[in-house]
Amino acid sequence: MDLEKEITNIIYKKRSSRSQSPDGSTDKADRWYPSEWEHCDCCDLIRQPTRRWNWSLLKHCSTKKHIKNLVEKHGIGHPDIVKISVGKVINKVKGE
Ligand SMILES: [Zn+2]
Repeated sequence: MDLEKEITNIIYKKRSSRSQSPDGSTDKADRWYPSEWEHCDCCDLIRQPTRRWNWSLLKHCSTKKHIKNLVEKHGIGHPDIVKISVGKVINKVKGE
């Protein structure tokens, strides 16, 4: 089993269903930007958010391509990657 691929899929599913959001923040004009942690090289190829397309990067950060790069950037053993991939599942087991 390719664990990296598996984790990418888990995070992708979570972000698709919006149970896990990409890490970032919005400015005064409600344009969303990824945090340094979330940002990958692929993000530089995306059209920068404008007032009209304020979520262009947020949408990009929920794509499989970006999540794959994110997992590669930090590695599958990174605590934050573990947290966003299995965190919710653990909470469910605890009944929270
Ligand atoms: Zn990206």
